[in-house]
Amino acid sequence: MAQAGIHALVGQAVRRWLPKAEWLMPGLVLGNLFPDFDNIAVAVATVAKLPTEGLHRTFTHSIFTVLAAILLFWGIGKLKKQARWQNFGLGFGLGIIMHILLDFAIWFNGVAVLWPLPIWINFWQGVTPPTWFEALMNPLEFLFMALFFWALGRAARKNKTNIDFLGKLNIWLMVLGILFVVFTPLAYIMQKGFLTLFGAVYLLMLFVAAAVTWRMRETLDTV
Ligand SMILES: [Zn+2]
Repeated sequence: MAQAGIHALVGQAVRRWLPKAEWLMPGLVLGNLFPDFDNIAVAVATVAKLPTEGLHRTFTHSIFTVLAAILLFWGIGKLKKQARWQNFGLGFGLGIIMHILLDFAIWFNGVAVLWPLPIWINFWQGVTPPTWFEALMNPLEFLFMALFFWALGRAARKNKTNIDFLGKLNIWLMVLGILFVVFTPLAYIMQKGFLTLFGAVYLLMLFVAAAVTWRMRETLDTV
């Protein structure tokens, strides 16, 4: 798993270099989040006691997926005669590319960037992070998601957008804070079953992050 919150924050941070186009930014942030939804496949395979190999960092982390997504949303835009779907698709594709680049930089595993071709690119070959660090990476997911929500809230207050949602956003922010505080010690003291428990909550919060991004698209569009 990688840091969804970092991916989302980076997506938000590149705003100033991009043209203003409706739904481009929500697409870009969702594209940054999207690749790690492959953890659903990992979770399903784990529950079904099937091999999980080749499920993470493959089919959602591929250049071909980027092209397929851009084409798909381009087609939807044509059908609906709404350019914002095409903006969304371009943002989404760019977001996935940013996610892949960030995965190269901040994680210790390879990415099958040309999936379905079995070519893995890994800049960290032979590097094994210390165990305490690997354990910390999981609860840190919640902290970074919280940072992302906080940044969204700050932008919304500044631009006076999505004001009606800020109350709920604060509740999610608190939930994430509590999850971080609870899961950090658990990552070190739970001998068995931590990854199952954490994985379930993590996936749930990944959905929340995507839903909040979409709900606050007006904020992302006006930043
Ligand atoms: Zn990833």
